[in-house]
Amino acid sequence: MLAVFSDAVDVPDGVPLPVVEEITRRTPGFAGWQQGSWLYHCDDGAAFLGPAGYHELEAYPEALAMLRIDHQRYGWAPSETEHFLRALDRAGEPTAYLFRCLHCGTGLASWDVG
Ligand SMILES: [Zn+2]
Repeated sequence: MLAVFSDAVDVPDGVPLPVVEEITRRTPGFAGWQQGSWLYHCDDGAAFLGPAGYHELEAYPEALAMLRIDHQRYGWAPSETEHFLRALDRAGEPTAYLFRCLHCGTGLASWDVG
C-alpha cells in the first residue's frame, strides 16, 4: 500500500530537523510516528512504502546505505550496524521504515530507535 502524507510535502529544503519534527508531531496523520523520521528527497516529502525488514531493504541498496550512514553518525561500529540491519524485521523489532522519492525513485529508510 502506498501512502502519501501530503501534509508534509511543503516543508522546504533546509528547514532544521527540529522544526520538521515539531510539524509532524502536531499533524494528526502523524500520530504515533516517532522521532520525526519522515524523509525528504528532491526538496519534497517522500512516499511512505511501509515498515521493512532486511529482506525488503535489500531491494533498495541506497536505503540500506542511508541507514549505515545514520548509524555511523551515532557512533555505531560497522559490525554493530550490520548486525542490526540483518535483525530488522518487517513485523517485529527493530523495524525500518521504507520510503521512496516521488521524483527520482531513490529508496530511503529510517529506523525506529524506540
Ligand atoms: Zn529524489
